[in-house]
Amino acid sequence: MTTDKWILSHRGAKNMVDPFRPYAWLVEKERQISGLIEEVGTIFLTNMECPLHCLMCDLWKNTTDRPVPVGAIPAQIEWALAQMPGVKYVKLYNSGSFFDDRAIPPPDYLQIASLLSGFETVIVESHPKFIDEKCLQFRDMLNGELHVAIGLETVHPEILRKLNKHVSLDDFGISVKFLNRNGIKTRAFILLRPPYLSESEGIFWAQKSIDFAFNCGVECCIVIPVRAGNGVMEELMKTGDFHQPQISSLETVLEYGIGLKAGRVFADTWDLSLFSTCPDCLEKRINRINIMNLNQEISDSEICPCHADFS
Ligand code: SF4
Ligand SMILES: [Zn+2]
Repeated sequence: MTTDKWILSHRGAKNMVDPFRPYAWLVEKERQISGLIEEVGTIFLTNMECPLHCLMCDLWKNTTDRPVPVGAIPAQIEWALAQMPGVKYVKLYNSGSFFDDRAIPPPDYLQIASLLSGFETVIVESHPKFIDEKCLQFRDMLNGELHVAIGLETVHPEILRKLNKHVSLDDFGISVKFLNRNGIKTRAFILLRPPYLSESEGIFWAQKSIDFAFNCGVECCIVIPVRAGNGVMEELMKTGDFHQPQISSLETVLEYGIGLKAGRVFADTWDLSLFSTCPDCLEKRINRINIMNLNQEISDSEICPCHADFS
């Protein structure tokens, strides 16, 4: 049984964070729905820890124990925007749910929207539990489009339960339909090889999850190879219940998703060296993934003998 207590008991210490500074920010190129490749800023907001305790989550590391004061989130955004002049697309990722009142105080919505008045799209993330009329209020305050990213994680029913996310496939589908009905585009986070799955099962269930997400009406899927790093995942590695996926599996799932031509599919490219032990092809594979992300076309793959070990 996966319990909060068991997950929490393996945690280490949190990092020191400043409620008036985002804990990170970056600008990267991303293909837009229009087909144009644009610079997109991501601001990793510092706020109160998510009330859920998902098995694979390490986002709690850069959070506060209490709600941040009203005004702190706009101050973080203002500071981050000054670091990324000219950017017109932004993701506000907050280690939880943007529409969780204890994470982002609703009295801050108007000032946040005003800071983002020149942006074409604003992407936030949220658990289905927090998706309601508040999303529409925030949408109405923005000049640009609001998009919402939701963690589907996996459609494997047993594994989804074990992830301790307290979400069902119905909850996901209802949230996507509610948002789409109200003119808000949605994207899904999908895990590649969560715990308790073999490499081939990891690929299979990630592909099934992409199918499900597009059938629900999401516009974009992001495939995230699962990594250790939160304590409990290391414990599952010790017991043989979790193995990090191979970079070649990420390519396979990305190829599958792009091949569907049902919407954009991106592979998460953060620290891909974790998912390869082969010095001969790592750089080539990372380049290939980046090119497929940008072009949304399957590019040729070079055969490397290491690939056979993991297929
Ligand atoms: S809902 Fe998201 S932020 Fe919250 S614990 Fe789960 S994965 Fe982490
Ligand atoms: Zn290789």
